[in-house]
Amino acid sequence: MGLANEQNSRTLPRYRRIILKLSGEALRIAGSDDSISPQIVAGIASQIKEVQRLGVEVAIVVGGGNIWRGLAGSHRGMNRVTADYMGMLATVINGMALMSTLEEIGCTVRLQTAIEIHNIAEPFILRRAVRHLERGRIVIFAAGTGNPFFSTDTTAALRANEIGAQVILKATKVDGIYEADPLVYPHAARFAHVTYRDALSRRLAVMDSTAFSLCMDNHIPIIVFDMFESQNIYKAVMGKPIGTLVSESCEPLP
Ligand code: UDP
Repeated sequence: MGLANEQNSRTLPRYRRIILKLSGEALRIAGSDDSISPQIVAGIASQIKEVQRLGVEVAIVVGGGNIWRGLAGSHRGMNRVTADYMGMLATVINGMALMSTLEEIGCTVRLQTAIEIHNIAEPFILRRAVRHLERGRIVIFAAGTGNPFFSTDTTAALRANEIGAQVILKATKVDGIYEADPLVYPHAARFAHVTYRDALSRRLAVMDSTAFSLCMDNHIPIIVFDMFESQNIYKAVMGKPIGTLVSESCEPLP
């Protein structure tokens, strides 16, 4: 590699278009009664702005688990379909919080929902979403896939395929994927890089199986990382080794 190329690889983002998957729990302080912490959301927004200023096209899929999860509702006797629609609406609340916070710091944002709620958001229209990204707007996808029995991880995998994202950055409360649950086994090792095949054979919990299959079948790499570590989104976009990378092979990504 020539000197100029080497310098570029250190200063240019590795990815041109990304999906950032934010779980609902990433928006609140653990153990707090508040579903959404304005301070946490502000921290995430400034990280997003930082990578967007590098010229990276940023689309975000938000979860809703900080407010409501359909499966939990159905375990308590609620109709699963209704409970899942409630979960999808919860993601819209999170999307609105994120949009407003990003706008306060000067970003141009479009919220698109898979369930139409015209008064507050655009409907999900793929071509329009791509156009927003090309024009430097941040696009937030809320209301999941619009269908019960799915998750927002599946939404992230689906939207990543649709918009041609080069990676899914999955922001969570933990700093990657471990060989065993680190809360139960404190000495469990964290993987820096696993292949899809290894993740399957070792039954590693990367995403739910529908989401994972969509990524594997369409060769979309996933980086699982700790949302609460500042600069992690920037580091992931720059190709620095954070969290766990799940991809086709253990060769470095192009
Ligand atoms: N959900 C759904 N269909 C989707 C996406 C989400 O029914 O396509 C519902 C489901 O009830 C889920 C809730 O929305 O529990 C919140 O999403 P998720 O659990 O994926 O949020 P996260 O764990 O990322 O916060």
